[in-house]
Amino acid sequence: MVETGAGEVYNVVVIGGGTAGLVTAAGTAGLGGRVALVERDRMGGDCLNTGCVPSKALIASARAAHTIAHASRWGLRDTAPQFSFAEVMDRVRERRAAIAPHDSEERFRSLGVDVIRGSARLVSRREVAVGDRRLRAAAIVIATGSRPSLPPIDGLYEARPWTSETVFDDLRARPDGLVVLGGGPIGCELGQALARLGVHVTLVQSAGRILEKEDPDVAEVVRRAMEADGVEFRLEAQVRRVERRGGPLRVHLASARGEETLEAEGLLVAAGRKPNVEDLGLEEVGVAFTPRGITVDAYLRTSQAGVYAAGDVTGAPLFTHVADHHARTVVRNILTPWLKTKADTSVLPWCTFTSPEVGRVGLSETEARGGNVAHDVWIAPLSDLDRAIVESETVGFAKVLTAKGTDRILGAAVVAERGGEIVHELALALRAGVGLKDLSAAIHAYPTFAEVARRAADQYQRSRLTPRARALFEWLYRRARRT
Ligand SMILES: Cc1cc2nc3c(=O)[nH]c(=O)nc-3n(C[C@H](O)[C@H](O)[C@H](O)COP(=O)(O)OP(=O)(O)OC[C@H]3O[C@@H](n4cnc5c(N)ncnc54)[C@H](O)[C@@H]3O)c2cc1C
Repeated sequence: MVETGAGEVYNVVVIGGGTAGLVTAAGTAGLGGRVALVERDRMGGDCLNTGCVPSKALIASARAAHTIAHASRWGLRDTAPQFSFAEVMDRVRERRAAIAPHDSEERFRSLGVDVIRGSARLVSRREVAVGDRRLRAAAIVIATGSRPSLPPIDGLYEARPWTSETVFDDLRARPDGLVVLGGGPIGCELGQALARLGVHVTLVQSAGRILEKEDPDVAEVVRRAMEADGVEFRLEAQVRRVERRGGPLRVHLASARGEETLEAEGLLVAAGRKPNVEDLGLEEVGVAFTPRGITVDAYLRTSQAGVYAAGDVTGAPLFTHVADHHARTVVRNILTPWLKTKADTSVLPWCTFTSPEVGRVGLSETEARGGNVAHDVWIAPLSDLDRAIVESETVGFAKVLTAKGTDRILGAAVVAERGGEIVHELALALRAGVGLKDLSAAIHAYPTFAEVARRAADQYQRSRLTPRARALFEWLYRRARRT
């Protein structure tokens, strides 16, 4: 604890009340530290207010509507789902409100955290200013997150497009057409969900395919599913200009299909994010940062002793579970700096919550090829899986990469209705060094979707059956029949 100078004195001052900040504050307070948490906007940050929570609530309603519309897949009648778009959006906000108490000021006060509302700025590496208040601490944690970035397109800013920051609060009536700029996870998740809820969606993507972090065969399964839901694609597209003059919005673009103008009531931009590094006093205090975010070492220390950064603002993979992991690491490193714990995201599972989902961990096939990593690929389609067949959810596959000639897992992708759940078995195996032999030997409950991972492992096992071994087994069987 810093004992000298004016101002309120803490062990830790945390800037930002999103996942990284909240977990840091709760962890520090839980261990007996005196901690202040400064938040300038809504408690809970991006995940609760404008990210994971509202997007997954919207996706859940979209899935229900899709199930009703395609009920004949389960022997029922296809029916146009009866719903009010506004009520669906109300539910999104209501679900968010149901989770909000977990991250609320009251809850954090009850945990012993001093919650301070306002914009924080570093004054020195031991001091933070919030308005007239001065908070002093031995350690400061910057957890200010990231925000959507608007690409420099003529007329885009003036057209007041939605971004993830505004869409969940401002979207109430069903828009008469929506252009989504960006074919990454956010654009695909929201584009597909809104299409399932009856919005005519055109997704514009500058690359030749969507979900560029995934292998082409994985992304293609998702693209086809989105197309079946009514999403139109403009790939290899460059938006030249956006206009909104009273009537519908006009998006002028050039794509593989040539020059065209799309008209729609709404425009959603999901074309990248940038770290919140402005107005924090970073330059003045000498905390190094780049356009990607605050520079940190493996222990999440910034260039100034005692100042740490965690979560999206570090430019790390933009996930809530990374922000959470960072926060836990920072809490440890502040309390016991001599033990120095590294942030270890070497085995990082993630999920893109499209339908089907994409669960991913470790190396992709594209990355393995690009990095000249010798590997084998094992693919198990859902169409062969009993549970998937009875559920009429046979789209997709599990793909597991192993180091060439061994059963050591390098990475996996599961594009399937429950891909985000299934991939965790493979993530644990990768982390614990469990190979495909053990995965194949592990008993899996029948009939489950989880069996698809073992199916991939079984393929590895079958590949080890050499013609000589097979000839030997056949001889043994023949001999047994004679006795
Ligand atoms: C649409 C969408 C869907 C997503 N879905 C998922 C998902 O399914 N799974 C997943 O893992 N991740 C998802 N994410 C990403 C996830 O939301 C973020 O990675 C995560 O919230 C980052 O947490 P953070 O604490 O680093 O930052 P944030 O949650 O952004 O928190 C930063 C906080 O700092 C505050 N702040 C900033 N500057 C100051 C200042 N000067 N003073 C005081 N306060 C300040 C901000 O107001 C904010 O509350 C999604 C994101 C989006 C946009």
